[in-house]
Amino acid sequence: MNINDISIATIGSHTALQILRGAKDEGFRTFVISRKDMVPIYKNFRVADKIIEIGDYNDFFTLEKELENAIIVPHASFVAYMNLEKLEKMRLMYYGNRKILAWESDRTIEREWLNDAGLKTPVIFSSPEEINRAVIVKFYGAGGGKGYFVVRKPGEFYKKMDAVKGKKYVLQEYIVGVPLYVHYFYSKMNNELEILGFDKRYESNVDSIGRIAAKDQINLELETSYNIVGNIPIAIRESMMPQFFEMGMRVVKSAKEMGGIHGPFCLETIVTPELDVYVFEISARIVAGTNPFANGSPYTYMKYGQNISTGRRIAMEIKQAIESDRLKEILG
Ligand code: AMP
Ligand code: AMP
Repeated sequence: MNINDISIATIGSHTALQILRGAKDEGFRTFVISRKDMVPIYKNFRVADKIIEIGDYNDFFTLEKELENAIIVPHASFVAYMNLEKLEKMRLMYYGNRKILAWESDRTIEREWLNDAGLKTPVIFSSPEEINRAVIVKFYGAGGGKGYFVVRKPGEFYKKMDAVKGKKYVLQEYIVGVPLYVHYFYSKMNNELEILGFDKRYESNVDSIGRIAAKDQINLELETSYNIVGNIPIAIRESMMPQFFEMGMRVVKSAKEMGGIHGPFCLETIVTPELDVYVFEISARIVAGTNPFANGSPYTYMKYGQNISTGRRIAMEIKQAIESDRLKEILG
């Protein structure tokens, strides 16, 4: 088998442009499975050799035949919009460990995984009655922070939950510090952990509340929300690097018992003024925070001396696996 026999495919949204561009740069044929509204985008950027239009994300499951020679690279839209049980059963060359996406959408499993790895995590309150400090109310799935809110007392919680009855939520201690998203890549081919970059998010309205005076904020009776709009690149203090590598290694190690993680993943953290790093979530696939680095991050440049995005790094791994006859090891 060589790379001419294989295409790289993904569904159209989230990080598809980056994944497909990276695959093309490594010499793969590419295609995208896209809903109608996004088709003009993939046409415009010319990153896909073929575009398959679908009416609904779940039509993806009817495409086994078309995807026969394609390796599917998953991203958050899979977690957000697709039936993961169906995805698990589909006959498909899937990059990564298919079971892992379901862990990500289950906050309990996610939590066990992080604790298993010995990472510092915010306190979880098992009942609203226990709320005794600032707590962030978060919903399940890769929702990008949509609808989250902060409360300080049980009464406040019940009042705000009224509008979103029946939704599954988690109550997490609100950590005051700066958000920092760490983009990892664990290469199974080279048995090496890499850090590809860092970002922070640009969230509405929380990132704009500081643009109005405190007295006006109070008058407007604002509700904070964390709906993601985009991502901003960050370079971190170099002296913090050992800590981030250590954290990533622990995650890879503790995932071994659950079937293993490889390829891209991200730890979503808050760094406190004491420089303690609290991990509040893990994404077990490429994150959109890698998009500002479509032509490489400072860290991929330092490692490779070339413009390597996470999308391209994935394609490099797939290519290496094909060329060394180890493709099976990275498909799950
Ligand atoms: P979309 O295809 O844009 O609807 O995104 C798919 C999922 O990924 C949604 O749940 C989004 O909230 C999440 N998402 C999209 N873009 C970003 C981003 N830049 N950062 C973090 N999450 C995102
Ligand atoms: P998530 O959907 O879990 O990535 O969270 C969305 C946003 O909520 C993050 O970017 C943070 O700004 C904020 N956030 C989430 N969890 C916490 C926490 N425990 N403490 C403080 N801020 C948080």
